[in-house]
Amino acid sequence: MTHLQVTLLGTPVVPGVAHAPALRVRGEVDPVAIERFGDGGFADADTALAAYDVAAETVANGFAQKAARADGAAAEVLTASAGLARDKGLRAAVKKSLTAGAPIVAAVHGAVEQFVAVFTSMGGLMAERATDLRDIERRVVAHLVGEPEPGVSLPATPVVLVAEDLAPADTAGLDPLVVHALVTEKGGPTSHTAIIARQLAIPCVVGTAGALEIANGTRLLVDGTAGTIETEPDAEEADRRVAADREQRAALAAWAGPGRTRDGAPVKLLANVADGASARKAVEQPIEGVGLFRTELCFLDRQEEPTVAEQADIYAAVLEPFGEGQYVVVRTLDAGSDKPVAFATLEGEENPALGVRGLRLSWNNPALLDHQLDGIAEAAKRTGTETWVMAPMVATVAEARDFADEVRARGLKAGVMVEIPSAALLAHRFLEVVDFLSIGTNDLTQYAMAADRMASDLAHLTDPWQPAVLHLIAITAEAGKQAGKSVGVCGEAAADPLLACALVGMGVTSLSMASAAVKGVGARLATVTMLQCRQMAEAALAASDPAAGRAAVLAVVDQG
Ligand code: PEP
Ligand code: MG
Repeated sequence: MTHLQVTLLGTPVVPGVAHAPALRVRGEVDPVAIERFGDGGFADADTALAAYDVAAETVANGFAQKAARADGAAAEVLTASAGLARDKGLRAAVKKSLTAGAPIVAAVHGAVEQFVAVFTSMGGLMAERATDLRDIERRVVAHLVGEPEPGVSLPATPVVLVAEDLAPADTAGLDPLVVHALVTEKGGPTSHTAIIARQLAIPCVVGTAGALEIANGTRLLVDGTAGTIETEPDAEEADRRVAADREQRAALAAWAGPGRTRDGAPVKLLANVADGASARKAVEQPIEGVGLFRTELCFLDRQEEPTVAEQADIYAAVLEPFGEGQYVVVRTLDAGSDKPVAFATLEGEENPALGVRGLRLSWNNPALLDHQLDGIAEAAKRTGTETWVMAPMVATVAEARDFADEVRARGLKAGVMVEIPSAALLAHRFLEVVDFLSIGTNDLTQYAMAADRMASDLAHLTDPWQPAVLHLIAITAEAGKQAGKSVGVCGEAAADPLLACALVGMGVTSLSMASAAVKGVGARLATVTMLQCRQMAEAALAASDPAAGRAAVLAVVDQG
């Protein structure tokens, strides 16, 4: 532990500068307290189970109370955690162990690990539940042994939260007025912490080596654009940087679109949406439409395939808010891997991220795609909104051609996502058979770097600033320029204001992102010329690693 001046480097995921003391989030229950508690001295298994019931119910109530104060995705996450803490299967597993004579802390641990194994084998979003389960275990054990629940307990004055990683239940309820920045040792740009921080616009740096060495109370200057964390900085200089950032953010709030570089080159700024509600929210931003409607997110809880009429209603709710001069890109089902959909995905795949996901699901079940395209065409007709349709996980030109034929037969514009390196390398040939391309940098990074996008230990690899990923993007954008067709980016990379400028410099024509990120990207783009964007692209492509790339791109901006 040190109070010396050092600078740590991590992966920046939400821009902004903050200066406040560190608050270390306790992830574990004090092991001394657990040891002191021992087997708890319960008379028999029934008494021990009764103690478990009280602890689990207290934890569940805590989640439910937080859920009542939250909204949107945060409330859903918390409600799900409350349900998990009350889960009958989990209780049955604890009871079985207790009856077999296990001490209660071991019984809870064994039951949780049993469930973690099941969820992990399911992969994707279900695997993420493992984090929630372990969080529940820590809280239940804390109640059993008479310790405070681990996790975030916020003071009234501003802090920078520093943690190994944050449990969904902790990030969901954060107050940006108190939490001025987040710094985690684990996690990548697509981690849960990053997504919630982006939603709340809290400056955030993840994957920071050495973060856990920071002592509680150390003054930190966090730069969510550069990915730097300076300990015990010069206070005056730090406050000056925070004030400059605040000014920039005010300019950002005033930015009203449309997307343009400083010298007037147009760049379409679009939103990523999941359903009608998020589309209605997105339309309040200065956007020219939707660049990614993730249709599979509408069906995560469905056991049966919805009828064409039902699908048409769901899609129409997303198309409806958009009018003249705007368009919506609907992505066909990207079921499988991290997004299992009961009526579509295969079970028991060895390696679902490399398995039958996305467009591949229609090989053995062509009706699935036909029905969806019929539903989209019906919604487009009903609303009159300009509708483009694209397929996820496309690996070959032949797949793209077949898909485009189906889409065009319904009078709609056809494209595919570039998420697999094969599609980036042959982008020029793909553009002979489709009307547009959209680069999914989350998966393109995963597949180019052979690094699971969910693996928090691989943050340095799952970073779209990796030069190899940027070269694949540049190849795709260049093919678009040659063909005179639009090439967008709809992965998280588009939400990074600095990287967005470099992407534009490569020739990307549209950027689609969480609607909360639109103003930040638009305002930054308005400060640079097209020539600077090209210089930024060159600098990022020539860099040896992500950190060097960011520094080189920032240097282009500073030279102004
Ligand atoms: C991507 O892979 O970048 C993308 C936008 O798709 P998703 O994140 O839904 O897989
Ligand atoms: Mg993807």
